[in-house]
Amino acid sequence: MNDNCIFCKIANHVFDTNMIYEDDDFSVILDANPATKGHCLILPKEHYENVFTLPEELTAKAFVLAKKLSASLKEKLSCDGLNIVQNNGETAGQTVFHFHIHLIPRYNDDGQKIGWKPGKPSDEELAALKEEIRMN
Ligand code: AMP
Ligand code: ZN
Repeated sequence: MNDNCIFCKIANHVFDTNMIYEDDDFSVILDANPATKGHCLILPKEHYENVFTLPEELTAKAFVLAKKLSASLKEKLSCDGLNIVQNNGETAGQTVFHFHIHLIPRYNDDGQKIGWKPGKPSDEELAALKEEIRMN
């Protein structure tokens, strides 16, 4: 546990919070500033800053848990959709530097927007990029 990390303290019950799920590896809490009704955060109990340092086994468990909780939120809140959001680094919008996954239930009239400006690369640019970043 990192003594300077608020999510370490929340995930490990040093601070009280609204927790909706817990197992050996994760605590899931309600976001204090929710985008929509039911916005929650999956927090590993161990401190890892971001996806780049999270061990593979925990990463796999985190995303399987995200799927299970998404189904549960959909059933319980009757939401119309759901965003799974996970920010890594300040440039990417991360503000708390303890890995977490946002589950954001979406409602037809929620007025929220999670998005980006679509780019318009040429076919040549896409082909060059593919060569640059392909993994196999
Ligand atoms: P991110 O921008 O991806 O790092 O998201 C951090 C999220 O943590 C934001 O949605 C905040 O509203 C939420 N948050 C920060 N502090 C707390 C807290 N003490 N309890 C619950 N949620 C928090
Ligand atoms: Zn932490």
